[in-house]
Amino acid sequence: MNNKIDIEFDKQHIWHPYTSMLAPIPAYPVASATGVKIRLEDGTELIDGMSSWWSVVHGYNHEKLNNALIEQTKSMSHVMFGGLTHQPAVTLCKKLIDITPIGLEHVFLADSGSVAVEVAMKMAIQCQLGRGFENRNKFIALTFGYHGDTFGAMSVCDPVNSMHSLYSDLMPKHFFIDAPNIKPNEPFDQNSLKQLKTTLENHSGQIAALILEPIVQGAGGMRFYHPEFLRQAKHLCQQHGVLLIADEIATGFGRTGKLFACEHAEITPDIMCLGKAITGGYMTLAATLCTEPVAKDISRCEAGVIMHGPTFMGNPLACAVANASLDLLAENNWQQQVANIEQQLTDGLAPCSKFESVADVRVFGAIGVVEMNNPVNVSEVQKAFIKRGVWVRPFGKNVYIMPPFVISQQELKQLIDAFIEVLPDF
Ligand SMILES: *Cc1c(COP(=O)(O)O)cnc(C)c1O
Repeated sequence: MNNKIDIEFDKQHIWHPYTSMLAPIPAYPVASATGVKIRLEDGTELIDGMSSWWSVVHGYNHEKLNNALIEQTKSMSHVMFGGLTHQPAVTLCKKLIDITPIGLEHVFLADSGSVAVEVAMKMAIQCQLGRGFENRNKFIALTFGYHGDTFGAMSVCDPVNSMHSLYSDLMPKHFFIDAPNIKPNEPFDQNSLKQLKTTLENHSGQIAALILEPIVQGAGGMRFYHPEFLRQAKHLCQQHGVLLIADEIATGFGRTGKLFACEHAEITPDIMCLGKAITGGYMTLAATLCTEPVAKDISRCEAGVIMHGPTFMGNPLACAVANASLDLLAENNWQQQVANIEQQLTDGLAPCSKFESVADVRVFGAIGVVEMNNPVNVSEVQKAFIKRGVWVRPFGKNVYIMPPFVISQQELKQLIDAFIEVLPDF
């Protein structure tokens, strides 16, 4: 246990997300994490402002989640899901159907968010095939969108952000429309739906589905948009026989102030992707849900089945910890937790809008974003944040906080204070 982490080996041999083997940025060695604190090997304690990419909503090393995992190992850690089933998966799928918007009735358990998106895209195409539409195999997606890094998911991400140019021959060409840029609290502008309308009118015969992140666009831009866009988009799609895929992988499980962001627009998508916070950040697990008509049409297409089945589908450990995490959400009163964080972020980050280096400050649910005028130097900003005892990982121009729901007022204050001290220098 006391062996030091071989940082030099890590630097020479191990890829980290979006890094170079020629000029790797530092990866800090972590010894442990408990509650909202990440403890580095040298003893430095950092208040986590990232929830390890949206996922660790209840904090690290949580007794109830630990116990759920340990208990599950005693009956089985894994069995194949092909032809077998088990209590943790059945319980989880029941819960998911119960808490997601009404009408979503069928669940595919995937092993990561990107895979859940691949499955959603296959579902949409197969559903259209089942309805007799052989040419409806393209998607409409939004600029600034992010849906994952596998090829199908990547093909519906913002083409510039995700560097489609690198893979141009392999990448299917979909229809991109401008993301709405009316914030949720601004008056709605009907013009923001124009492009969607025209695209549907001119190309719906080729289109299987519109895929989007409801209300909050995450990794592709940290942008918030008006729920009325989503409400009307759903209606327009329906008129043109186009399905709506809501990618709630980042927004699901309370982060935006509703259990699912679709609830802001009071819609049920045809297909919904879940991931990230589903296990409270303990294990990789994701899910793709669909409505009954979609499930039936998929099953009527030539294959007769959904063409996907990961080795670790429905992993019992992941399902067991997800069940415990969903129970905790309810027990902890996530609505109150998120509302408190939203209020404190709104008040606390407001002074940042006066900094010369800052272009915009916005808060929605338990997400606070400070958009800078220029892309920030990630390793330099991180150094400054670590000096102040907080963990924040900016992306492009955006420096943001999306803390675990269990963060205390004092801990969140320390994160906000660090923003106020650090950002004027960048
Ligand atoms: C993170 C994310 C994904 C991809 O999930 P992975 O588990 O990283 O594959 C897809 N869509 C959205 C909206 C995400 O935030």
